[in-house]
Amino acid sequence: MQSSKKTKGNLPLDTVDGQRQGLKWDCVNYSCAYDALFTMLLNIWCESPMTWNKTFRGFGPFMDCLIEGFQRAYRGTGSLENTRDRVRVQLNSSNATLFPQGRLGASVGDLALAMLDATNAPSPWLLCNICNTRLPIQSTVRHVFDVGSNTPVSTTEWLMKCHQNRTPAVCTGCLSPVSNQWHCDAPPKIIAMNISDQPVRISPVVKIMGKARSSSLYFRGIVYYGDFHFTSQFVSRENKMFFHNGIKDGSTHLSDKSCLNKYSTAELSICNGCKASLVVYAKV
Ligand SMILES: [Zn+2]
Repeated sequence: MQSSKKTKGNLPLDTVDGQRQGLKWDCVNYSCAYDALFTMLLNIWCESPMTWNKTFRGFGPFMDCLIEGFQRAYRGTGSLENTRDRVRVQLNSSNATLFPQGRLGASVGDLALAMLDATNAPSPWLLCNICNTRLPIQSTVRHVFDVGSNTPVSTTEWLMKCHQNRTPAVCTGCLSPVSNQWHCDAPPKIIAMNISDQPVRISPVVKIMGKARSSSLYFRGIVYYGDFHFTSQFVSRENKMFFHNGIKDGSTHLSDKSCLNKYSTAELSICNGCKASLVVYAKV
């Protein structure tokens, strides 16, 4: 049953029946990859819309379109499904192979890349601890990471590897060897890791180095894949887990154990027989 709040198109942060909003699956133009990721992003966004509007600014036209739709839904002037379909039209015109219409699937990893890999990504640098010289690196700080062939033990370890220089560097100021740890002026506030069934331990917190100290990003959800269908679980700011399956009824439900710290890594990696495909970390 829909509550009276929901029929107005509001996005209740907490409802009496332990639900958050989510997207309903489209059986004509298969939409589960979009439903799973957008439901997670929606529920992160609706906890602090002003903050996330600012964060997502500059991520590109697809994210702009999604956030505008979230705002319309929040005001009760548009539906979440309509928003998803608008974003899909844009994605489809940019790449009809990756983002097809009809009864064809899309990869949630490709979708995360299109939505989250910001066009305004900062450039990293190494820091000399002796003379404080910054050594620029010809790379960018990404928001989406693909697991490589050498699967790391945990998401923490994986992210650490992604933010380290592979070759040793020497300071151009004092000629001392410098740490291979990347620094950046504005560490990402949200990242996605494309696990694709790899046996990776899902860490509760990952860290990214900023100017001088590391910034923590917290586990906020997982997209699962099984039987040609994506579902998702996300974690609220209050550390409650919600499950979403757009094919069932579109809404989200408090997970059985309701609290993230009651789940083991093995339990997180598989949900209703489906395997973890994409993990999202964000600021709380
Ligand atoms: Zn130096």
